[in-house]
Amino acid sequence: MALKRDASGRLHIESPLMGESLMRKGLLADTEIDTVFQPLPDLKVIKIGGQSVMDRGREMLLPVLDEVIAAREKYPILLMAGGGTRSRHAYAIALDLGMPTGILAKLGESISEQNALMIALLLAPYGGIKIGHDDLVKLPSHLALGAIPVMHAMPPYGLWETPPEIGRIPPHRTDAGTILTAEVLGTTRCIMVKDEKGLYTDDPKRNPNADFIPEISAHELLGRDLPDLPVERALLNILIHAQSVKEVLIVNGKEKGALTAALNGENPGTRIYK
Ligand code: ADP
Ligand code: MG
Repeated sequence: MALKRDASGRLHIESPLMGESLMRKGLLADTEIDTVFQPLPDLKVIKIGGQSVMDRGREMLLPVLDEVIAAREKYPILLMAGGGTRSRHAYAIALDLGMPTGILAKLGESISEQNALMIALLLAPYGGIKIGHDDLVKLPSHLALGAIPVMHAMPPYGLWETPPEIGRIPPHRTDAGTILTAEVLGTTRCIMVKDEKGLYTDDPKRNPNADFIPEISAHELLGRDLPDLPVERALLNILIHAQSVKEVLIVNGKEKGALTAALNGENPGTRIYK
């Protein structure tokens, strides 16, 4: 790219973005590309729910990890850990103390990290290794060694978390962190292991008459404005604009074989697509 002197005498490096505010609509549309580079398209990104799986203890977690162990010969896997009940406790205290959203996000981070630590240790005999955000770029070597990397799933907004539309709970939590991780690594889907078959028209724990929804687009799901959701709204907004991730699967960790089926490309629960 050539150097260019403008009328005022300032030197610029000539490029398509030269002198732009990076806000002009036409310019933004021009940065769209047909194909985005996908570093690890075959990677399976799996989130182990905090409240829905981890907090239910060994009875729930260990069979889910057994399916991961069995699948690791076949697929490269990245496990992501949610926060769960302890995050909710910390959020409640922080809210009571009048803390801003960024502090809540920071608290959530350390709690999902505790879960990542325990999952990685449980998987140690099978190559479980706890990684941090900076280690994501080393993922190919961990995977080549047959490891099962485990990372906490809070995205690193931390103190800089955006204030939510309503209330003060961080809008980007571990579901958003999981899809953002899958997106930057160029994978086409991510799997969320939770404790219900998938998505219903309402929380099945509170409303036994809720209807099951086997598949739905992220756009339609947002439009339906359901009373409650098993995934963060932020995840749906991210999916709509994702370049690599095309679908998010919700599977029931209580149902033996559901995770394996999802890894094999089936939809044993709910498929939310772009
Ligand atoms: P995780 O621990 O994986 O983050 P959460 O507990 O945050 O999971 O969210 C999953 C829970 O959301 C389910 O266990 C279910 O009780 C609840 N839920 C709320 N609304 C819905 C819905 N519309 N469909 C299915 N589950 C729902
Ligand atoms: Mg959750």
